[in-house]
Amino acid sequence: MPDRREFIEVSIKSLTGLLLPFPTQLNSNFNTMTKRKVYDVIIVGGSYSGLSSAMALGRALMRVLVIDTGLPCNRTTPHSHNFLTQDGNTPQNISKIGREQLNSYPTVEFMNDKAIKATKTVHGFEIELESGEKILGVKLVFATGIRDILPEIDGFKACWGKSVLHCPFCHGYEVKGQNTGILANGQAAFELAMLISNWTEKLTVYTNGQSTISSEHKKRLSARSIDIVETPISKLEHQEGYIKSIELEGGESIPIEVIYSKVPFEQHCTIPSELGCSINADGYIQIDESHETNIPGVYACGDNVTRMRTVSNAVSMGTATGISISKKIISERF
Ligand SMILES: Cc1cc2nc3c(=O)[nH]c(=O)nc-3n(C[C@H](O)[C@H](O)[C@H](O)COP(=O)(O)OP(=O)(O)OC[C@H]3O[C@@H](n4cnc5c(N)ncnc54)[C@H](O)[C@@H]3O)c2cc1C
Repeated sequence: MPDRREFIEVSIKSLTGLLLPFPTQLNSNFNTMTKRKVYDVIIVGGSYSGLSSAMALGRALMRVLVIDTGLPCNRTTPHSHNFLTQDGNTPQNISKIGREQLNSYPTVEFMNDKAIKATKTVHGFEIELESGEKILGVKLVFATGIRDILPEIDGFKACWGKSVLHCPFCHGYEVKGQNTGILANGQAAFELAMLISNWTEKLTVYTNGQSTISSEHKKRLSARSIDIVETPISKLEHQEGYIKSIELEGGESIPIEVIYSKVPFEQHCTIPSELGCSINADGYIQIDESHETNIPGVYACGDNVTRMRTVSNAVSMGTATGISISKKIISERF
């Protein structure tokens, strides 16, 4: 039995096209066999990239469902930077403004839930949610981001995004000139130290175990008075996420104000790879210039496809994906 809204929409549909507000969606509103609602596009992930994709699709009169678990990767950082018009705003506020602006598009709906499975169907895809609900969509967008894998160092997680940072372009300006540690090893440690030397001269590299930095790189670091500390770290002493000192095994405590660290990551959502989407050697979902993966009808945007990890880039990619899918659907229905 359809619910009241579905019943009204089915009735309207049967009235041979009278008073139909969104003509482009009518083919996809309902699966006529099962009477189940079919979205033009289901977006999994409702942070910056997903919301921006939803805006482009909503403005193209596409019927969209955004499914989100509300766990963006930057949620621990107090302020987001380097996004014109939003510099210094909180990550939560930026999303809130996006959600509010999307409320003016009646074709865009939201669901707080977790997508756990996707299956190919005759007309598109079925997404299964943690709540048990199953939703149909013609196209899928994964704007699911990545999940940082934080090292098991006492205090690291509490400081992540506040005083243990991933990117100087996002947060370097606020901590310029401060007493800074680079927590990395090998080539990555050298490259990160070289980069961060733009923002501060007070630099020390912590390899947290035996150094694998090449002798050539050691010489270059030493020439800039950048010391390398190999003693394993036992703890980051901090106050509400703001680091005060690094405690080494053996008990030595070194005062410090900020750490940069390159941590490994994994895809936040495994559904794209379960569907057969190719993942490249760096761990990102592979897409073409229209943001489509190798599985027709499945698209991806944001952090899950690129190492250019910024809010502005996630927004830009979301817009491009929404426009690309809209054009595809419009041409398929013409
Ligand atoms: C600590 C930190 C600080 C940062 N600071 C800045 C900064 O100052 N400036 C800047 O420009 N960039 C910053 N970034 C980078 C920026 O946060 C990312 O580039 C941006 O969040 C990427 O947006 P996204 O939409 O691709 O992914 P995310 O923002 O990570 O969002 C992914 C969304 O998908 C949802 N999701 C995942 N799987 C599922 C599923 N199965 N079902 C439903 N929902 C799902 C998640 O809950 C989440 O809401 C920072 C990153 C980090 C880690």
